[in-house]
Amino acid sequence: MSLIVQKFGGTSVADAEKILAAARKAIRAQRDGHQVVVVVSAMGHNTDLLIDLAHQVDEDPPAREMDMLLSTGEQVSVALMAMAVHALGSEAVSLTGGQIGIRTDSSYTKARIRSISTERIVRLLSEGKIVICAGFQGIDEELNITTLGRGGSDTTAVALAAVLNAESCEIYTDVDGVYTTDPRVLPEARRVDIICYDEMLELASLGAGVMHNRSIEFAKKFGVPIHVRSSFSDIPGTYIVRESESDSSPVSGATLTRDEARVTVFGVPDIPGTSLRIFSAIAERRISVDMIVQNVGRSGKADISFTFPRAELKAVLAAVQPVANDLGAGRVEQDDQVSKVSVVGLAMARQAGVAQHMFRALADAGVNIQMITTSEIKISALVDRQHAHAALRAVHSTFQLDQRPNDAKTWDQVRANQHQHPDMTKLVERLRSDQLEALTLTGIELDGDQARITLLGVPDQPGVAAEIFAAVGDAGVFVDMIVQSIDSDDGRTSITFTVRRNALPLALKIARDLQQRHALTAVQHDPEIAKLSVSGIGLRSHTSVAMILFRTLASAGINVQMINTSELQVNVVVASAQSAQALRLLESAFAEYLS
Ligand code: ASP
Ligand code: MG
Repeated sequence: MSLIVQKFGGTSVADAEKILAAARKAIRAQRDGHQVVVVVSAMGHNTDLLIDLAHQVDEDPPAREMDMLLSTGEQVSVALMAMAVHALGSEAVSLTGGQIGIRTDSSYTKARIRSISTERIVRLLSEGKIVICAGFQGIDEELNITTLGRGGSDTTAVALAAVLNAESCEIYTDVDGVYTTDPRVLPEARRVDIICYDEMLELASLGAGVMHNRSIEFAKKFGVPIHVRSSFSDIPGTYIVRESESDSSPVSGATLTRDEARVTVFGVPDIPGTSLRIFSAIAERRISVDMIVQNVGRSGKADISFTFPRAELKAVLAAVQPVANDLGAGRVEQDDQVSKVSVVGLAMARQAGVAQHMFRALADAGVNIQMITTSEIKISALVDRQHAHAALRAVHSTFQLDQRPNDAKTWDQVRANQHQHPDMTKLVERLRSDQLEALTLTGIELDGDQARITLLGVPDQPGVAAEIFAAVGDAGVFVDMIVQSIDSDDGRTSITFTVRRNALPLALKIARDLQQRHALTAVQHDPEIAKLSVSGIGLRSHTSVAMILFRTLASAGINVQMINTSELQVNVVVASAQSAQALRLLESAFAEYLS
């Protein structure tokens, strides 16, 4: 018999009537011939109210007691939901996280799931009951109650779907699916029928608040199709699955992260270990940074820029300033009037010219790009906040995200492909026993066939990046990593990109033409670089990955020249001569996570 998991979020169980409506959906699914597991969140804004109450009593409440408190929200919901099913004439049993046997580690308020024992649920289902499970909570070794972090009920639901081999996990919420961008910001945003795990993970980490990102990691690892849909209607929503909606459209979604800030540390000694020191000081404060750009050093000095949520500016400066002083770096500059516009799409990894297309659209909208970073499936541009909305609209429209692609797939076309990837079966069995949420690496690769070009003193005005990459693209040169950073020379920036080594002569010729035309200060190149890529699932939510990587390379005296991160990979560029050693070191540093 097929099994489905249905998850109802806070707004879907906000009052008695809504709880009854949710119960009806569960009963209907059971009558349709499914075994049904229901996962519920706390009613309405109950979790917020409990947090507020806690802070009225204690400014800095102990994390253990916070979890004891917050878990009550879900306990209320499961009991009421089971009663609702009963009132409607069917049978249900409610269970807390502990009663389901959701074992977690002991990191209160952000616990990770280790294992789930399914016997009890399976037995209750076989007795014809609807099983109502409390989301967001578990217990640790000592039976202490833990919670999974805000929004964690999604993760409970998908984790249960994974271990119970559910046919799908339905997420009932107050929106009717996933959109190409936030429809409250751009009304022309389009609801997509399907989107792939990797795209959803990128969008989630860029702030598209549809789902808890750890739930998507679960779904990807265990091959669980997720159906995000409205609890207030019966129309299908969006399926989050292995493949993207279209194989030809390079971009599937666009996001605007409005309230960002940038910090640049000028004149950092360009020696191994400096990035490590700066970013571990920030990581210690649990601040996640994005768009890390280190421009290639001149006279032994480099400038390091990065972005992060604007609310963290004070904390970041407090962390960075002492390190900068210690390193004998130059000034630390900040800008809290910036926003990040990003496009995400699985198909861009296979297509040339996507970045150029985005830069052109921004230039045509008169938007200046301050910083650029790219990864396999994402391109981000930092812009002045004043232009953020126009920038989002320009990229959304240039990639025609408001129109359904001609080759758009439907759930019925892809549903047969959703079973587990054969390579994963063994791994999954091992993880099931006690490490469900562990970082899972699928490989570490060395690409020795790379060369780098850096343009220094690029005028900081709209259209320059677009022109540079149009020239390179028109010559048929495939560009891999791109970074644009703030330059110490006033009012100028530098742009670095990598190409295949055999394309270097052609790319250099184009760069020198551009140098003439735009009076660039200099063109630098390095034919002897290599890219190391660490691939897997959970690379970003496990923030330790970047640290392990930096630490391992720094301790062997290997300088990191460029870095980029996505949900799929963390890539670093090092000198060719050190690349074989770097590969060996990373393989042993990450050995325990390699599947
Ligand atoms: N009730 C918890 C929260 O508000 C968990 C959830 O809703 O997913 O964060
Ligand atoms: Mg939620």
